[in-house]
Amino acid sequence: MRVPVGPLVGAVIASVGLGLVSPVAAVARPEVQARPCSDDPRDLPIHEFTDYRELQVELGRLQRVSKGRLKVETAGRSTRGRAIHRVTVGTGPKVMVVSSEIHGNEKTGTDALLRILDFLGTSESAHAKRLRATITFVAVPKLNPDGAELDRRGNDLSWTEVQQTFPQLAGRPLAWNYISGEVQGDDYRTRPGFDVNRDFHPELDYVPQAADVPGSPDRPGWFITPEARALRQIYLDLKAERGKVPDVYVDLHHQGACVRQAGSDKLLDVAVDYPPLPDRFFEDGQKYAKYRDVYTKDESRQLAISAYNGMTEGGYVGARYPHAPDRDLPGQARCSFALNGTGTVLFEVRGQTQTLGQQHRERFTRAVVAGLNRMIADVSTGAVDRIDPEKFDTIPGTAAAGALVD
Ligand SMILES: [Zn+2]
Repeated sequence: MRVPVGPLVGAVIASVGLGLVSPVAAVARPEVQARPCSDDPRDLPIHEFTDYRELQVELGRLQRVSKGRLKVETAGRSTRGRAIHRVTVGTGPKVMVVSSEIHGNEKTGTDALLRILDFLGTSESAHAKRLRATITFVAVPKLNPDGAELDRRGNDLSWTEVQQTFPQLAGRPLAWNYISGEVQGDDYRTRPGFDVNRDFHPELDYVPQAADVPGSPDRPGWFITPEARALRQIYLDLKAERGKVPDVYVDLHHQGACVRQAGSDKLLDVAVDYPPLPDRFFEDGQKYAKYRDVYTKDESRQLAISAYNGMTEGGYVGARYPHAPDRDLPGQARCSFALNGTGTVLFEVRGQTQTLGQQHRERFTRAVVAGLNRMIADVSTGAVDRIDPEKFDTIPGTAAAGALVD
């Protein structure tokens, strides 16, 4: 349940200063236009987003009409038995993996992925044929289906269930990313869960060890959630099939509701980011030194610039996601994969379901598609390799961001 909030203070009245508008006309304006931006959680409609049942129907349809070009497989199951899908289209040498809804209240990525899959799987255009010949596109839509159906950030998994699966963790304190209280307006007390995007480890064969729990944000996760294990399996299967790690991984998220593009002061559509892993930890003797030669900071920044360019060309408002030099989150999927040599990008659409509901859904979905399409094209042609990674810092930053929720 969400906590409803009352009228909000600090509202910007749209009609102020418009001297030609009579008071009567101003009063007649639709209420929705005057609603201010807020990060306070509310109960809002989300039925326009694709739910789990609709996702399965649509994936089945795409597989049927794609003439065998699109393959849907089950890569794993959530705690509550829902399939986690690996959807593959294309046969090219460049492998791109894109996941959505690792946080279940961040939903535009799933709709964006379905549009990309529809084009890649069914289009007879020369462009689509070229992409299928140069790219292998692997989508993992709705990676956290239990959280998505509950419309909340965490998955649906208790610490007791984790200890049943991993008896070596018996008696250990709760993992730091375990959610059992109220978060983002959702009550986890009777249905606890984990932030799945802190459960990854750069050592992909890692098995949970008692001494590594409860952990902390600046330490790797443990693959204790079935969702993280499913994505790891997809990654390892691709590595085994291709003899190399995937070239690209994109993680589709949402963030605060009131973020603006610095400089223009426009409300943001999507921010992009490369992995938060401090440079100094790659120096000799530091904790990431062993990954120095495979870590893909430059490749990740090139990909992020490509995505930003695609959104800007499409008329959308892009930015850099806040990235302090000390931000260190190795347990995120994108960080663990980047330490294995995959270029990774984070997309952060403005607002989550408890703050914006399905408001701007179509615009945000199109913005994500624009960013992904440009990246796919730039990877296909090799143009991404000619982007200057240092230009990343020339992308506009963000203003008025609330707490980071990637
Ligand atoms: Zn997120």
